[in-house]
Amino acid sequence: MDPMTRLRVARWPNGAASPVNLMIDDLADVWLPARGCRGRECDWGFLGRGPDSAWRFVEERLLGRWPDLHISLYIPVNRRPLMEPPAGSRFHPIDERPETREFLRALADHPRIECAYHGKDHFRDTPQGRLQEFQDQDSEEEAREGILRGLEHWNRVFDAPPIGGKYPGYQGTDATDRAVAKAGFRWWCRRFNRTRIQSTDSLPEELTLRWFTDERCLELPTTLAGNVLPPWLRSEWPRWPKRWWQRRRMETVLEMQVEQLLAAGLPITIQEHIAPSREDGKRQRNNLQDDGSALDWMLNLIHRHPVWHAHPSEIADHWRLRETLRLEVRGDGWIGIQAPPCDLLTHIELEILDPRIAALATGDGPVPVRDTPGGRCCSLHLGTQAFRIMERTR
Ligand SMILES: [Zn+2]
Repeated sequence: MDPMTRLRVARWPNGAASPVNLMIDDLADVWLPARGCRGRECDWGFLGRGPDSAWRFVEERLLGRWPDLHISLYIPVNRRPLMEPPAGSRFHPIDERPETREFLRALADHPRIECAYHGKDHFRDTPQGRLQEFQDQDSEEEAREGILRGLEHWNRVFDAPPIGGKYPGYQGTDATDRAVAKAGFRWWCRRFNRTRIQSTDSLPEELTLRWFTDERCLELPTTLAGNVLPPWLRSEWPRWPKRWWQRRRMETVLEMQVEQLLAAGLPITIQEHIAPSREDGKRQRNNLQDDGSALDWMLNLIHRHPVWHAHPSEIADHWRLRETLRLEVRGDGWIGIQAPPCDLLTHIELEILDPRIAALATGDGPVPVRDTPGGRCCSLHLGTQAFRIMERTR
């Protein structure tokens, strides 16, 4: 009997409906004063873990309050000003100042954080004006060259290369897609995967992981925005009248978005920016310092369901297992496993479809089947070459 009819890779580990990750863009060695911004609102990472820093806010307001939450940080390694920067601005490559190198290394060691690549300069000058770094690159070589130079900054800070990353401004081309895959990235965020922040009619196939560029790299979707509730409807803006009917309408939008993701088993990946300040003096709408109560509301909603708090690389690993793991019955009755290489995961979660299966046995002994919210599951170490099915005895 084909073993794949009796068990298969689970939708997500531990019976979870969806994986969850908060994605924070633009952590950089930058200090950027802007109109109406004070203290940590001007900080993109320049202050490290210092008092009144943006990162302290993340630690106290998010990581402290939500002890399971996993965060991915998208780091432009040499963020440059978009225009003449306001007086008092500081822009440094991440490998320039020792205190920043130390700060970033500590983040990379944090068990609930994954650091990812977000371009070298983020923006660049062209004859057509300022463009996002990859936006008009039609030559794979040019894009690859830029990535390699960016990774030189990265490698002077971190012990390991980034596994994934994100296009600055979500702007890339076919040529840059190929360059990203050839540079060795295993997953990449290519776009905001809804038509609009508040849209509830996006198709599931737009919100899922998918291969791009000849199946070498996975697109990791961005499926929610942290500012889906407009700021004037929140508790941070006490002087605005609380228009509860508008607020209720927006909450319904968010509920519909989250329900769709959970029902279809799609990743819940929430986009945010580290700080509100921008060099054009405007306040960046999507930023976690303004969105604190909206994020709480969102996470409360999500936490009513069984979810898997995971790093983007773990989500990509599990998806790769689901898509490409093969099981083969061997002559001796054992079932051989052919699993793709994984970056962070250590176990394969198998969903047991046949109620007659009591446990799986590996060379190290039996592994029991567990009941989870998503069905009966059994977790095998990724190094396992083969296993046997242990049938229930009546
Ligand atoms: Zn960015």
